[in-house]
Amino acid sequence: MSIVTAIQELKDTLPSKTILVAVSKTKPNEDIMQAYESGHRDFGENKVQDITVKYDTLPKDIKWHFIGHLQSNKVKYIAPFVHLIHGVDSFKLLKEINKRAGNNNRVINCLLQLAIADEESKFGFSSEEVLEHISNGSFAALSNINICGMMGMATNTDNSGKIRSEFHHLKETFHAVSKKLQNDDFSILSMGMTSDYKIAVEEGSNMVRIGSLIFGSRE
Ligand SMILES: *Cc1c(COP(=O)(O)O)cnc(C)c1O
Repeated sequence: MSIVTAIQELKDTLPSKTILVAVSKTKPNEDIMQAYESGHRDFGENKVQDITVKYDTLPKDIKWHFIGHLQSNKVKYIAPFVHLIHGVDSFKLLKEINKRAGNNNRVINCLLQLAIADEESKFGFSSEEVLEHISNGSFAALSNINICGMMGMATNTDNSGKIRSEFHHLKETFHAVSKKLQNDDFSILSMGMTSDYKIAVEEGSNMVRIGSLIFGSRE
């Protein structure tokens, strides 16, 4: 199936409010341009080096989503242009994003990553930590970041019941945070990739990050 057809079929099946992030990591600019020319603008990358090169060499109206694990010392490279950082997994990282956003006279959109899976548990906040940061005002003090939702990755397993319950936990936390945070922009629930996006959408996702289903499998 062509890249353009795959995107069109996804858009036809996803609920209309669901944003599709086409995960183009490891794929060449030619593949991205096929999607771009069909009207697609949201692309996801997980390496700072790659997203920076692609930003430099591709049309400037692309919305670049950083979806990988972000190291604090590399925030400065993506701060000038990144559209949304999905995997914010510590307060230290959030503070660094705030600082670099300020240096660029920007407010950077961020999603808080919640640790919901077994094997990914080393990255991400717990729901208690997120709620604590809201209560003590530490998020509110960062004026150059906009916390506009949450993100998570389910365990890589065939057990769909387990995946569903992990996404369900993320959605419950999303609602709890939404009530406490008082930010009208807090609206994005980023969950679901090629193998589990259908379950994620059933559990309330409104942003899916899909790579191999669109661009084919990676090396
Ligand atoms: C690679 C990646 C995806 C997309 O994975 P596919 O299985 O190719 O759809 C989604 N989210 C994150 C965080 C990724 O690193």
